[in-house]
Amino acid sequence: MKFPVEQILNLPDMKVLDFQELVGEEIIITIEKSVNYSTCPDCGKITHSIHQNHWRMIHDLPWNKKSVLLKINRRQFKCHKCKKVFSEKLDFVDKNKGYTKRLATDIVQQVLNSNIRSVAKRNGLSDEEVESMVKKQVSQILNINLSQVKKLGIDEISLVKGQGNYLAVLVDLDTHKPIEIVQSRRIEDIREILVSWGSEVLNKIEEVSIDLWSPYKNLVEELMPNAHVTADRFHVMKQVNDELDTMRKTEKKAATSLENQSEKKRILEALNKSKYSLLKNEESLNEKQKEKLKSVQDVSPRLAKMHALKEEFRDIFETTQSWGDSILKLLDWMYDALSYFPKSIGTIVRWFGEIVGYFDGRTTSGTVEGINNKLKLIKRLGYGFRNFSNFRLRSLLNWHFTINSP
Ligand SMILES: [Zn+2]
Repeated sequence: MKFPVEQILNLPDMKVLDFQELVGEEIIITIEKSVNYSTCPDCGKITHSIHQNHWRMIHDLPWNKKSVLLKINRRQFKCHKCKKVFSEKLDFVDKNKGYTKRLATDIVQQVLNSNIRSVAKRNGLSDEEVESMVKKQVSQILNINLSQVKKLGIDEISLVKGQGNYLAVLVDLDTHKPIEIVQSRRIEDIREILVSWGSEVLNKIEEVSIDLWSPYKNLVEELMPNAHVTADRFHVMKQVNDELDTMRKTEKKAATSLENQSEKKRILEALNKSKYSLLKNEESLNEKQKEKLKSVQDVSPRLAKMHALKEEFRDIFETTQSWGDSILKLLDWMYDALSYFPKSIGTIVRWFGEIVGYFDGRTTSGTVEGINNKLKLIKRLGYGFRNFSNFRLRSLLNWHFTINSP
């Protein structure tokens, strides 16, 4: 049976000159372009004059678990018109690289499911070679997406719980993909990244959804003249939930100092482990959680009222369709909630324009939760990435890697 070397190679422009299978080791395929001419890159004239043969070895996709090396003759031609010598173009390998483009694509995909060190080991490459493949992929994809960005989300996440170390994540809210990961949430660092996008990109941004932090707002106003700032609804909701939870703790503390022991026991039993039932969306509670909520409502009229207000507030965000309605509903809610949620209402007053602005386009970075979880996973898997810049590249690849095979 003839060995299917052309099939393995699958490079129709190339002809096979020689083929060696070293037992238990690797396959070496010697190839060169099948045509005997080339086109001068300067003047476009065709020449048949081979000036020099130039042999090199490059890694290709493995076959049947064996490494494949291509021994390639990249010929130099001489153009008679310009009297210049040039190397012929081979479209399956980048200049000065020791591997084919398709191998790089495959390696990057492997890295997405594993880590650099083990992929390098498995494929007989160095860590540096694998890193360089990953970096190249990132540099090819990033520019494409920036010019399309109309709605931007700025969010911050902490990869290691309780350690601080916040990163800022910039999200394209139309595609729901992160487009940049910034080493810190410091305004100077975020500004530097945004400025590097250039004013053409920044001028096209129409809306920026942020959490309730005024330095972000100032930055948007400074750099993106055509963008309006909206408050991310999940951050607004979080204010209300946090204030409800603080009251739950206060009520619990008050109960522990009660003189009447049976009353104390009754209230503490009801409030114990009630956080979830109080904060979670009411319609999503299971039977047991509903009972818990009922017992909290029985012992604490204040928590019962605050819970009802919290649900009303959420309902405004869920159901209100117009900007005008949202203003009326929020004002009504604030009037009812004034003595229960003073802190949240203070925030809502300060950010009223941005919160109401949400109802215009209903833009939210609600997907950021999913993005954060993925980033944490990458951080855990990311051994072999020695620093932040590699973590960043690896992360962006996760969302932006597309295979450009012919
Ligand atoms: Zn020429």
